Amino acid sequence: GSDRKSRSRTPSYLTFDEIGGQDRAKRELQEALDFLIRYDDIQRLGIRPLKGILLTGPPGTGKTLMAKAAAHYTNSVFMAASGSEFVEMYVGVGASRVRDLFKEARAQAVKENKNSAIVFIDEIDVIGGKRDGGQHREYDQTLNQLLTEMDGIHTAETPRVLIMAATNRKEMLDPALLRPGRFDRHIEVDLPDKKGRMHILNIHAKNKPLAPDASLESIAQETFHFSGAQLESVMNEAAIYAMRDDSALIQQRHLSLAVDKVMLGEKTDRESTK
Ligand code: ATP
Repeated sequence: GSDRKSRSRTPSYLTFDEIGGQDRAKRELQEALDFLIRYDDIQRLGIRPLKGILLTGPPGTGKTLMAKAAAHYTNSVFMAASGSEFVEMYVGVGASRVRDLFKEARAQAVKENKNSAIVFIDEIDVIGGKRDGGQHREYDQTLNQLLTEMDGIHTAETPRVLIMAATNRKEMLDPALLRPGRFDRHIEVDLPDKKGRMHILNIHAKNKPLAPDASLESIAQETFHFSGAQLESVMNEAAIYAMRDDSALIQQRHLSLAVDKVMLGEKTDRESTK
């Protein structure tokens, strides 16, 4: 639909510096991406080229940011789609959308004169779930098309295509996706530790005026188990509280209220889905 089109054309100027925490994941990802950058060496040494990278981990931890930063790092075109966009009433539509996505990625790379494209598929489990004896025929065709695309990637040809996918349910994936030559590199993007939370809060505080009493350190301390997306919300909500208070600066109590709000919001979300 038009939604996918508009989102997949979003240019990506994100760098790894704009992702807080995730030091290990970033390092592993950069190492994997060197396969794309150092293609000549890969070939000379007879190393099997990399076709797919799977990012796993809880929602809101920065998997999409990682994929965008990967595109920037490798000077690739970035195309994004979500697994749920391929689920259609009519058999075959999902498969042809997969085909179109790859075609579009290649065309865009040619147009922008780039050597590579990164196709990012969020919620890959929606189309890549375990196949169960023909019950979900539509998903099967979509998944088969994805596997066909992956097998058909000839990395010697430019533009080279690298597929990145994200899921928070890796155990649900069809084993066919995880075989060598498919998504054979897995990177875990976990909830941030305290240092990571501090880093993420700092990133999202950059454009915000903090009062001298505001301590991001204490907020990082009390936000155990928060994701990056939740920490971004905390900073945003705190700014809203400051505005309501007609305060020019974001004070510590605005931050504390925001932590409570985000924590509570999550709870009611969880209860309402029970
Ligand atoms: P989902 O699994 O729900 O798709 P995700 O892991 O892809 O989530 P993102 O979409 O990358 O998460 O993150 C959502 C938003 O949360 C980002 O746009 C950013 O504002 C914030 N965010 C998440 N993680 C980080 C991080 N590590 N550093 C900075 N900001 C982050």
